Amino acid sequence: MTSASSLCMRLHRPGETLAMERRPVPAPGPGQVLLKVSACGVCRTDLHLIDGELPEPRLPIVPGHEIVGTVIGCGEGTHYGLGTRLGVPWLGHTCGTCDFCASGQENLCDQAQFTGYQLDGGYAEHVVADARYCFQLPETIDDAHAAPLLCAGLIGYRSWRMAESAKRLGIYGFGAAAHLVAQVATHKGQEVYAFTRAGDVTAQRFAKQLGASWAGSSDDRLPVPLDAAIIFAPIGPLVPHALKAVRKGGSVICGGIHMSDIPSLPYSLLWGERVIRSVANLTRRDGMEFLALAGEIGIRPSIETIPLAGANEALEKLRAGALSGAAVLIP
Ligand SMILES: [Zn+2]
Ligand SMILES: [Zn+2]
Repeated sequence: MTSASSLCMRLHRPGETLAMERRPVPAPGPGQVLLKVSACGVCRTDLHLIDGELPEPRLPIVPGHEIVGTVIGCGEGTHYGLGTRLGVPWLGHTCGTCDFCASGQENLCDQAQFTGYQLDGGYAEHVVADARYCFQLPETIDDAHAAPLLCAGLIGYRSWRMAESAKRLGIYGFGAAAHLVAQVATHKGQEVYAFTRAGDVTAQRFAKQLGASWAGSSDDRLPVPLDAAIIFAPIGPLVPHALKAVRKGGSVICGGIHMSDIPSLPYSLLWGERVIRSVANLTRRDGMEFLALAGEIGIRPSIETIPLAGANEALEKLRAGALSGAAVLIP
């Protein structure tokens, strides 16, 4: 194992494309597992990383935080058997002792480290991960389809939990996270109102196929006020738009890690106890709850598989909105 080399796609500097490189197979340290990667999803956060929109990434870095792999090596103190299938999410490490960690908000830990940002991720044949932050995956979902669950699904689920009591739920940006949230929401009996780019009839049709009651663009008039809206598109001007669409006491939940500036807005849009909030990262509890639910409701991610070497092309397709599902890299 030590002499073998392993292929990865690595970012050296924001603004550059990823370089295809060989490196030694990483060795698992104490508490870590070594996984042979079988699939890794491409997330919009990877684009923000590559575009330099996330502060202080560790460089060079292998992106990718929707990793499915099989345990082929264990560091000291890990309990997973060889051959176990695991998922590696965005949250890769926390301190475990700060006030956030102690109060069930490990997603906000100041010492947190994130996969594919400070820790090498899954755009690679192999990855090492802290076993305590890995998840076991529902057996009914294959590797490629399980990959998008690990960020799009998890962040989507955490965002959705903030809107769990809504009867009418708006979703802005109908991409990887939204198409999974829509399946959870309709399963739970919520009405889904899907907002896409103007004229994107394909995405609107897709939203309706997944059970949305209404699909249109943010310029279209909604038939009813919403109880809550989740914004996945990284577009700040959608915030005042969503505030206008929710009823008094309703919430606007921003589910992305990066968003363009929110324009100034009249206080009257927020008045009436409307709430704007963000959702950051995930906790392990979110992961366990969501993955159990995903297995139970038979969630069906829509994916497009692409060979690992095509990572740069996959990212450009995501940027252009030219993917027919969540892109999943296959080493
Ligand atoms: Zn902490
Ligand atoms: Zn992500």
